[in-house]
Amino acid sequence: MSVRTRADLDALPGYVPGRSIPGAIKLASNEVSLGPLPSVVEAIAQAAGHINRYPDSGAGELVARLARKLDVSEDQVAVGCGSVTLCQQLVQATCTPDDEVMFAWRSFEAYPIITQVVGAAQVRVPLTEGHELDLDAMAAAVTPKTRLIYLCNPNNPTGTAHPKAAIERFIAAVPDDVLIIIDEAYGEFVENPDIADGVELAKEQWAAGRDNVAVLRTFSKAYGLAGLRVGYLIAPEAVTAAVRKVFVPFAVNMVAQVAAIASLDAEDELLARCRDIVGERGRVRAALIEAGYEVPVTEANFVWLPLGERTAAFNEHCLSHKVVVRAFVGEGARVTISTPEENDAFLAAATSFPR
Ligand SMILES: *Cc1c(COP(=O)(O)O)cnc(C)c1O
Repeated sequence: MSVRTRADLDALPGYVPGRSIPGAIKLASNEVSLGPLPSVVEAIAQAAGHINRYPDSGAGELVARLARKLDVSEDQVAVGCGSVTLCQQLVQATCTPDDEVMFAWRSFEAYPIITQVVGAAQVRVPLTEGHELDLDAMAAAVTPKTRLIYLCNPNNPTGTAHPKAAIERFIAAVPDDVLIIIDEAYGEFVENPDIADGVELAKEQWAAGRDNVAVLRTFSKAYGLAGLRVGYLIAPEAVTAAVRKVFVPFAVNMVAQVAAIASLDAEDELLARCRDIVGERGRVRAALIEAGYEVPVTEANFVWLPLGERTAAFNEHCLSHKVVVRAFVGEGARVTISTPEENDAFLAAATSFPR
């Protein structure tokens, strides 16, 4: 090949999406298993009649809705083509090649890929023995080059979450010119009232003069719109303004904008589904513990099984039961909580895994 592409991309692992295998139960991508609500499908069908036009590039109506719902100003909201795209925009908006992005490891798989694609350095801070973000070690790892810190709360893939006081201590320990992003992709599944609501926490920090705290949320998980790609950032105006500068025009399509608004209209119904998933999460976790597995307390719509070297065998065993989990070979398996029937199929696989 004569075309010269970036040599560093050869070393970059591609993002591995959860596998879809025909006829198998997919518990690999933390989606909600139930299909979209009829009201949302209807809104999408209506929007389809207008797709010869470009969307509103700034997603004004959706931004206004989110600002009202969360009691922030519209300038403090930025939407993106999934929150993954906002993660990338945040790195683009804060980092040059000399700068560092910090995150726990293991955490959301997209963080290292995005950081490398943009061309910044990455600092990975190992999780604690208890599979939690090591907030003290993260605060201690800040250097003059640190520009951005991703705190995934609850953490993907371990499900662990930190109480508000712990996040506040962390923020206080980090210089206020370092942007701290609380990624709340799974915030709607949190049950423990001590866990931080990032948006409330961020607003308190802003009011106290700390303008380096922001929150990422998504319509992909609790709101069931993974296939349409809409996420949003709640941040001080200086941050949203920088993020908008690196926005690819029209990245959030018209159908996605309409579906997100329709989902906010149907929020009660969608959040009731989340409560059902939380109930199932408790049942599945208890059954796994009963079967002898270690399962960290999870506040997300998945469980983490830190199986270490047995992860690959567990994955194969689940596949033979037509259940697709997300295996991180050598570390553990992440399994999405689904409907009672699908969870039972997974539990049948897990309890028959020879240990
Ligand atoms: C699933 C997930 C996202 C985001 O998703 P989008 O579909 O891009 O909105 C973001 N952060 C974490 C930690 C996730 O697990």
